[in-house]
Amino acid sequence: MKLEPVIGLEIHVQLKTKSKMFCGCSNRGEYEPPNTTVCPICLGQPGALPAVNKQAVEFGLLVGHALACRPASISRFDRKNYFYPDLPKGYQISQKDLPVAENGTLSFEVPEEGGRRSVTIRINRAHLEEDAAKLLHSPDGMSSFVDFNRGGTPLIEIVTEPDLRTPAEAKAFLQELRLIMRYLGVSDADMEKGHLRCDANISMREVDEDGTLGPLNPKTEVKNINSFRAVEHALEYEIKRQTKLWIDGKPIKEQSTRGWDDAKKISVAQRTKEEAHDYRYFPEPDLPPLDLTLLGQEVRGRVPELPANRRRRFAEEYGFTEAEARVFCDDQELADYAERVMSELQEWAASLETKIDWEANRRDFARLVAGWLLTKLTGLMTEKKIALAELKITPENFAELLAMLHGKKVTGTNALVILGEMIDTGADPSIIADEKSLLLSDDTEELASIAGNIVVANPAAVEDYRKGKTNSVQFLVGQMMKATRGKADPQTARELIETELKKLG
Ligand SMILES: [Zn+2]
Repeated sequence: MKLEPVIGLEIHVQLKTKSKMFCGCSNRGEYEPPNTTVCPICLGQPGALPAVNKQAVEFGLLVGHALACRPASISRFDRKNYFYPDLPKGYQISQKDLPVAENGTLSFEVPEEGGRRSVTIRINRAHLEEDAAKLLHSPDGMSSFVDFNRGGTPLIEIVTEPDLRTPAEAKAFLQELRLIMRYLGVSDADMEKGHLRCDANISMREVDEDGTLGPLNPKTEVKNINSFRAVEHALEYEIKRQTKLWIDGKPIKEQSTRGWDDAKKISVAQRTKEEAHDYRYFPEPDLPPLDLTLLGQEVRGRVPELPANRRRRFAEEYGFTEAEARVFCDDQELADYAERVMSELQEWAASLETKIDWEANRRDFARLVAGWLLTKLTGLMTEKKIALAELKITPENFAELLAMLHGKKVTGTNALVILGEMIDTGADPSIIADEKSLLLSDDTEELASIAGNIVVANPAAVEDYRKGKTNSVQFLVGQMMKATRGKADPQTARELIETELKKLG
């Protein structure tokens, strides 16, 4: 007999709508002074009436489509009653029986030794609700403060089936989900800022030698997980803790909630048993049920290309490796940039007098783009602390530089000099190359005469060459490159030097 972890996640994502879930207050309260983006509705004043934010419902439907959920025809809001200082109404408006989306799936890849493994898990549901206010506690623990700006922020809660089996799977799932939220444009999904919050449910289940699974056991819910790393750490900790209880003959018999202490790397008991009926759910009387049949169809047409598809397309259409495609597509802006550079290069290849066969050469171009974009340009941007949105280099100019490289108009060293200038001024690479005379010379006569001069000026190296020391050729090529300040192609330089040496016999 062995034990296997059974893991499910509940993820709250803050939706970046213009206004809050049930009132007209600005939804950018996190950037405003405390308690300034509030009104009687989100403060829970008696008699204030909520109204549903249409954009939030559309965002909910988008998420549902992206997670391959069954579209809801009728959706309804319910009151979830509980008392807490961050909840002035004494209840939260949420969705219980008729969520905005149900029964979906999500496939993602989990990195593991020697490659990546594809995993598909089921999504139980996604429902809309409002966020609570934010409590802040003074360091001495003597006072607490409430900032109601966050109260009423639209949330979508995504609940998975308990289909995850390892902490690494949980982390990879969350990372893919975050990326999808960003691609959909429904949330910045920044975990550190609390835009994406995760609770993890975990229990251990017996597996017989023949693979027969034991019954599901009561789950432990781990709350307060604030980073992708913390998800992994918290689950690893719980697996160890629960396995030990099992070995000690005291398996967990009761559902409980624990909080993750990321500083101490332990989970701490919070409360046991909390059933749905404790919340006394009932339909929200101030909000009529929504018929989402038409809106759902309309929103379906607005689902953008999702990360998994885009990665596949980057590999198939452009010839990027899977690893390159993944790095590009993890950042939508970077992927857009790379795509524009590739299409510029494709146009350039077709515009030449002697056309370049794109299909046969696209892997060469992809390699060039990946190398120069992901290493050289990104390196310079990090050094100069420039974000892609602030970059002065247009994809057209970047593609032009790569075309110069591909067409052997400029050496790699000089292309880097040009790139350095482009990042500061945003100027056209051919203009910079002209001004600084960085282009390779195709004047063979001139280059041959320089090669002749180099050979004459270095008798010792020529003597070494005669004695059979072949590395003296490399020295002379180096002298030639120096004399031409990178205007000679290294290959051409070598050929010309060798010709001159042979002339001497
Ligand atoms: Zn309000």
